Amino acid sequence: MKALRETKTGRRSRPVASPSVHKFGGASLRDAGALAHALSIVESGDRPAVVVVSAFAGVTDALLALAGDLSRGNDAAVRRTAADLQKRYERSASAVVAASAARQNLLAHVRRAFGELEALPSAPRMLRELSPRSIDHLLAAGEDLAARIFSAGLAARGVRSEYVSALDVIATDGRPGQASPDLASTDRRARARLRPLLSKGAVPVVPGFLGADAEGRVVTLGRGGSDLTATLLGRSLAARSVILWKDVRGFLTADPRVVPNARVIPQLNVREAAELAYYGAKVLHPRALIPAGRARIFVRPFDSPDEPGTEISGRRTLERYPVKALSAIPGQALVTVTGNGMLGVPGIAARTFGALHREGISVSLISQASSEHSICAGIPEAQADAAQKSLLEAFREEVSRREVDGVEILRGLATISVVGLGMAGTPGIAARVFNALVPAGINVVAIAQGSSELNISFVVEAARSGEAQRRIHDAFQLSKIGGGRASASAHTDVVLLGFGQVGRTLAGLIVRKSRRAKLRLVGAIDRGGYVFRPSGLSSRDVNDLTALKAGARSVSEKARGVVAGAREAIAALAEHALSRPILVDVTAGKTGPLLEEAVASGFDLVLANKRPLSGPRAQAEKIEHAIREGGRRLRFEATVGAGLPILDTYRKLVESGDRIVKIEGCLSGTLGFLLSEIEAGRPFSRSLREAIGRGYTEPDPRDDLSGADVGRKAVILGRLLGFQGEPEEVAVESLVPAAFRRMPLARFLERLPELDHEWAARLARARSRDRRLRYVATVTRRKIRVRLVEVGPGSPFAGLRGTDNQVAFTTLRYRANPLVIQGPGAGLAVTAAGILNDVLELAGG
Ligand code: ADP
Ligand code: ASP
Ligand code: MG
Repeated sequence: MKALRETKTGRRSRPVASPSVHKFGGASLRDAGALAHALSIVESGDRPAVVVVSAFAGVTDALLALAGDLSRGNDAAVRRTAADLQKRYERSASAVVAASAARQNLLAHVRRAFGELEALPSAPRMLRELSPRSIDHLLAAGEDLAARIFSAGLAARGVRSEYVSALDVIATDGRPGQASPDLASTDRRARARLRPLLSKGAVPVVPGFLGADAEGRVVTLGRGGSDLTATLLGRSLAARSVILWKDVRGFLTADPRVVPNARVIPQLNVREAAELAYYGAKVLHPRALIPAGRARIFVRPFDSPDEPGTEISGRRTLERYPVKALSAIPGQALVTVTGNGMLGVPGIAARTFGALHREGISVSLISQASSEHSICAGIPEAQADAAQKSLLEAFREEVSRREVDGVEILRGLATISVVGLGMAGTPGIAARVFNALVPAGINVVAIAQGSSELNISFVVEAARSGEAQRRIHDAFQLSKIGGGRASASAHTDVVLLGFGQVGRTLAGLIVRKSRRAKLRLVGAIDRGGYVFRPSGLSSRDVNDLTALKAGARSVSEKARGVVAGAREAIAALAEHALSRPILVDVTAGKTGPLLEEAVASGFDLVLANKRPLSGPRAQAEKIEHAIREGGRRLRFEATVGAGLPILDTYRKLVESGDRIVKIEGCLSGTLGFLLSEIEAGRPFSRSLREAIGRGYTEPDPRDDLSGADVGRKAVILGRLLGFQGEPEEVAVESLVPAAFRRMPLARFLERLPELDHEWAARLARARSRDRRLRYVATVTRRKIRVRLVEVGPGSPFAGLRGTDNQVAFTTLRYRANPLVIQGPGAGLAVTAAGILNDVLELAGG
């Protein structure tokens, strides 16, 4: 079946069968193991073959960050990023090429490229602001080195291969950052350069994303551009197929991070795929299908190379589905030019788009009212100011004549596109799209339909975009399209944010459980950076990490660890197609905004950290909002009762139709212990020292005595009941007298005995009335109080001893006799087990 073709150039070479083009994206080149896997796919694949590679995962982002750091004068960051990247490329090179002259040659290339980057900070100040052209030059190293390493890796396996510079084969219009290919000239060059290699039986490896300008300097094709390199070469070489190896099972009905029940589409028409890519389906570069020609393109799963994935071709299938998929572009703004004077004036639209074009702004949607009173366009939010300026400039005269009222900008939007060839012949599609949004009260800001009736695009508030997509996906029953689930694995990937004592204990539990429960601990993040292992950290890895932390070092110091802020770490992890990912917050920090971002990138959340939900109400609501919007799930049992099933009980009560009127609880193990000791007749000072000695207290025991920690738990419980207040409105009685609050810890401990007398008196007073001292949180919808109280013998709290916690629910059903839960409420083992329960629950559901 191999079609034979004459080569026009390279006349002496033999006719070459049409090749397959394999493209490996960054997500498929995440580490040395993945690189080896990619090499073996090519090694065992058909011939002739051409390979296109992008930079390793996250490299382009890191290089862009480096450019930013350079312009801001963050020299240390520039050097660190360059050194990290150099190490990563060196490790990959050494992993796939044995020690040899070839390896030395490769390492020299790596050192040269990154040596150049590391030297950048010594450049004069004025050279720091990099031009788009210099940024392209800097980015080029990512793909160029990847291609050299890939080619050397093939050679090391005995596959004849040659690295080919992108400058030799891809010709462009030379626009930095966003170059368009010159098809005719690319055809000529690619054939001239590659056919002789193919006829020799060699596998050429070409860096993706890059091309040459008229002077032969490097430019980039826009983010995700290595897809385009692959289809360009596919066209020039009349390839049999272009295979885009991705970290997803195929082209999906929707972005799986937004629509969890997205499905693989077995076959898509080129026009549909092009439309989806143009409207934000990140799986394909927006222009990748322009040169498609006759080649069949396949989007296939890198992790399961035997699966068919999605065929993109001229065929038309799946006719039962008028709508096949949807996609969204986030970060959009709408510019509107309005004015009475526009009526009937020719050329307003042309001038509007001319003005946007001059600024290089790409327009996602155009809509004009028939009255011609206004014309509006969807554009990237980041370019909204530039757009406004350019339009005001273009219409200066009309504005002064009052023919144009002005140029309005509406920000914070997303454009959603619903795509399918079958829409043209099926009435009522638009109605079904918009009806799906009605029950959720999602407001549509602008609408446009392509004249081909291949797509309907509309603009909604960005915050509602996820929900809108899920509803439309449901309305067209796209989860029934036959290609299978978005993720083949039923695994749940867990990432720990924080790797302190609780985090480490939990890591051990997860790794031990992992096989049976289909859990994978894929990453850990701490203040210094992160480690990531897509196939899961082993128990040995966890031991290594624990040893590092015990030596006060960071998880990023582990092999293949990355130095990064938590935000970057989460962004980097979210780049991978993690399977049903859960982020577990075991820090004690103000992680709210970070959690929101994690949710937006598709993580479910489990919290042991109390702060995000017990701080300012607006913050807690933002997290809950993000969870609802993203269709994600949130569990936080460990924030209140460590391992005790307090929230679980709460949920079950509510689900069974009961109403909770009041929650009361003794929620501090430390204070419980202290009061038991005092009750047993021991002086306060001695009891507190004992608690410190046993490791019950925070490093500064006043953090427990002040009631702040109990206050946080109480706020979390209160918010379940509908408490609308701020944490400051919660009356928390501190057990530290005012005069003792600010002094240094050592001094406080020294002066403890001064407090003994007062405590003895309190105890005596309570005793004389046959009462006991308890530190109790009382929570209702309206009011939260945390204070030291005397309880009588009838109270459920009277029998409490030691570090146990106790919570009593007063409900409509349990009114006279509250429902009580009691048990150890602190300690590493029970806390970690409580968190694990939450994780298992999410993993199971
Ligand atoms: P590459 O490794 O080739 O650069 P990308 O990261 O560019 O791969 O594209 C794959 C990602 O695109 C997937 O991880 C997925 O989350 C996202 N994506 C968005 N929309 C879709 C869709 N409709 N089908 C498949 N993947 C999608
Ligand atoms: N490395 C480039 C990017 O991250 C190109 C690509 O991955 O296709 O955008
Ligand atoms: Mg890509």
